[in-house]
Amino acid sequence: MDMPNKAYKFRLYPTKEQEQLLAKTFGCVRFVYNKMLEERLQIYEKFKDDKEALKTQTFPTPAKYKKEFAWLKEVDSLALANAQLNLKQAFTNFFEGRTRFPKFKSRKAKQSYTTNMVNGNIKLADGYIKLPKLKWVKFKQHREIPVHHIIKSCTITKTKTGKYFISILTEYEHQPVPKEVKNVVGLDFAMQTLYVDSEGKRANYPRFYRQALEKLARAQRVLSRRRKGSNRWHKQRLKVARLHEKIANQRQDFLHKASRQLANRYDAVVIEDLNMKGMSQALHFGKSVHDNGWGMFTTFLQYKLEEQGKKLIKIDKWFPSSKTCSRCGRVKASLSLSERLFRCECGFVADRDINAAINIHKEGLKQLGIA
Ligand SMILES: [Zn+2]
Repeated sequence: MDMPNKAYKFRLYPTKEQEQLLAKTFGCVRFVYNKMLEERLQIYEKFKDDKEALKTQTFPTPAKYKKEFAWLKEVDSLALANAQLNLKQAFTNFFEGRTRFPKFKSRKAKQSYTTNMVNGNIKLADGYIKLPKLKWVKFKQHREIPVHHIIKSCTITKTKTGKYFISILTEYEHQPVPKEVKNVVGLDFAMQTLYVDSEGKRANYPRFYRQALEKLARAQRVLSRRRKGSNRWHKQRLKVARLHEKIANQRQDFLHKASRQLANRYDAVVIEDLNMKGMSQALHFGKSVHDNGWGMFTTFLQYKLEEQGKKLIKIDKWFPSSKTCSRCGRVKASLSLSERLFRCECGFVADRDINAAINIHKEGLKQLGIA
């Protein structure tokens, strides 16, 4: 079994020289990625009618380019090796039908690279982190990484607004004592807010977050009216990027808090195993489902529960949580999205989401063998 892992993200404050080396590294990673992609495309093209011969082909590695492009040696070689792994993963994802065909990385793409811990090359001390080639970089460590966590890799990112961040991925040995399950709650995913629980409580984003979303929408409308490439357009684009960043942070804070409260309060949390991507496509909700943060929320919830020996129970997404009466168990043939109240022949009337959350809770108890 894989060891559990956890990432810690911090703001990074490189010096001018370190900024230059970072820019160079982002560039080299992009260059190597695109080179390898180009060669792969040529190989696929050459052997497209000969699958057997294609299987015996070897794909390029960064080492190959270092002879031709000596400046690649100036940057962290692990970053280049990871570019190769990323490309490989991109092709695997494509061949397994998860993503589109890998694309070339443009200058405008996200600026980031990943390096690995090898023989203690990454160290932390007194507000500084030591990274390959960069040496000691100042960073704001607002929380401790527990001593039993082992650093595996670091991903350095530069945002569109020019800020630097480092995400430190750690692994840890962890055998929490399984907690006896007493308090269980069911959550029904809610489009506008986040969830409704089986006790009738609704989680909702704070007001300042919803206001920031409105502000972003306004800023985006202004941007669309500006002439592309003009000074005013660039200014507005930066404003939009800043708002995006702020909103992403606010959302993450809220999701951390909401999941922390649940994980501390309950021994098991039951949710439906939703396929968000499929759902948003099927229902034409567009971006709002992704932006709702459900995926991120369930990830946080899972590790926060597991580190305390508690459980996240996922029930089958085909379970008719909305159509079933939580009192008598009758299943309705249909229930339109506009019906906000659930009414059953047995006389039971409840808010549709609460009814669903109660069903999810019950189904979870069944799976836990408690019902
Ligand atoms: Zn009923």
